Amino acid sequence: MLDLNIMEELHKLKQEAERTRNELTILYEISNAMRTTLKLEEILYIILTSVTAHIGLGFNRAILFLVNEKDGLIEGKMGIGPETGEEANRVWKQIEQEKMDLDDLINTYRVSKHIQESGFNRQVQQLKYRLDNPDEKLLLLGALEGMPLHLTKETIQNYSHDPIVQSLKTEELVLVPLKAKDKVNGIILADNFITQKPITKDDLRMLIMLANQAGLAIENSQLFEKTVIRAHSDYLTELWNHGHFQYLLSTSLEKAKATSSPLSLLLLDIDNFKIYNDTLGHQAGDMILKELALLLKNQSRKMDYACRYGGEEFAIVLPLTDKKEAFLIAERLRENIARHSFAHQEILPNKNLTVSIGLASFPEKGLSPSELIASADKALYQAKHQGKNKTC
Ligand code: GH3
Ligand code: MG
Ligand code: MG
Repeated sequence: MLDLNIMEELHKLKQEAERTRNELTILYEISNAMRTTLKLEEILYIILTSVTAHIGLGFNRAILFLVNEKDGLIEGKMGIGPETGEEANRVWKQIEQEKMDLDDLINTYRVSKHIQESGFNRQVQQLKYRLDNPDEKLLLLGALEGMPLHLTKETIQNYSHDPIVQSLKTEELVLVPLKAKDKVNGIILADNFITQKPITKDDLRMLIMLANQAGLAIENSQLFEKTVIRAHSDYLTELWNHGHFQYLLSTSLEKAKATSSPLSLLLLDIDNFKIYNDTLGHQAGDMILKELALLLKNQSRKMDYACRYGGEEFAIVLPLTDKKEAFLIAERLRENIARHSFAHQEILPNKNLTVSIGLASFPEKGLSPSELIASADKALYQAKHQGKNKTC
């Protein structure tokens, strides 16, 4: 007969093996999901869903912060979690009734993006902390030292003044840094503020394993997005290049047709630029192109696309903008350029660097990208003929 101790030991081992198997299955599914996309936003969603789903790590709430090295900030990028107990019950019941697995949750996000509208996610996206501010102790500990941190009911009191603890109103939390090649690029914060279920050693261990993959997946997707942007940008001015301009114009035009909304196109050409170049040299001319591009970018709206059409010609696509509004925008831009004092502009005939602008609007002046470009080009030619520094 087997000794009682051995029976107990065997039972424990069996349980442990089962738990390990479950954990491996979860981690395998998460890493598969992360490989299905290179879009940063989708990667963040997959990570946070894995942390919060019952079929994942099962935390009530999770936030993902990313380090923004350029501005010296750590910023809340996405948050998943209910705001109240009722909301939690509703969502959790739905997931259970519909037997949603990780894949289902991710596919639902691709279709509806409802989480972006959630109150908690909006609150998270307001969170921004300076990396050189010693008051943001908690996040800094995570970000700078790269160590996981578990704050229990007892130890969290030492951080009661920390802005993160105050804004989350939580009694227990874990912070796990995300790393890529030994550099911390983000932090996951998770808690159980609805169920108040204590966070176990196993929970934390799983979160650390997930974080190791998450940091790399985030870095990959950031590199990918940077490469895509670079491939579509003009090297000198950092505006969209000609190829991407054609793409932006045709996709914006398709959207305008589908929604029966207007769209306008501006073509800008610098007046007498050959004189500037011939007098001061090509490099001085290039500086002007850069400065003008910055002006165009700063003065266009978020939805507009400022592009370098070629040489010293620029194009701006104005979605949802009719002829009348586009004319006002073009005139304001032209006046601001005329008012701006560019280096050595006094050598030009009018002692001022100016642009001429041709404007064409959909649907009146063209139904296809090439018709619109031809119309705007014709208008630009008119502006030059009527004495330059004009919008036609
Ligand atoms: P207009 O008022 O009729 O536009 O006269 P313009 O002298 O500006 O003539 P045009 O528009 O044909 O301008 C072409 C000149 O722009 C030729 C060249 O000196 C300059 N240019 C074109 N591309 C570049 C560029 O990439 N860098 C620099 N520095 N100059 C450029
Ligand atoms: Mg030109
Ligand atoms: Mg010119």
